Amino acid sequence: MPSSTPVTTFRPPFRIGLGYDIHPLKEGRRCVLGGVEIPSPVGPDGHSDADVLCHAIADAVLGSAGLRDIGHYFPNTDPACKGMDSLDILRRAVKEVEKTGYALQNVDAVLIGERPKIAPHIAAMKERLAEALGLPPACVGVKATTNEGLGAIGAGLGIAVHATALIARI
Ligand code: MG
Repeated sequence: MPSSTPVTTFRPPFRIGLGYDIHPLKEGRRCVLGGVEIPSPVGPDGHSDADVLCHAIADAVLGSAGLRDIGHYFPNTDPACKGMDSLDILRRAVKEVEKTGYALQNVDAVLIGERPKIAPHIAAMKERLAEALGLPPACVGVKATTNEGLGAIGAGLGIAVHATALIARI
């Protein structure tokens, strides 16, 4: 930013955001990832549908515009959030960003976990996420890797997700 530019009028053409989330896996929980229900004996535990992929992407989207995290918009103490569809969290995040005069361009995410197997469901996840984010599926990256048996994730106790988002000035 040029030193003569007032901070309040500094609106860069592009901004990026970073999101991270992790949920423990629990026996008998529904396994919803990227808005897709995956047949699995275990699923992410949490207050909402615990869709860890949606949560990380939502935080990346909100963070790109310097907004608060999803816990601010959807407190896990709010009964209205219990079991909620996390695709709605994504829709809200995109709306909040648009209020700042920016539009989402693309997101990318990597899931880290030993189970369940994600690969067969990635195409469906991209479709669902793209619809909620108002993007073409080609602008939604979803990848998965294991933790090579290391640590709690490697022991299959949870799933973590890192995500990024890019927004452009409207
Ligand atoms: Mg979460």
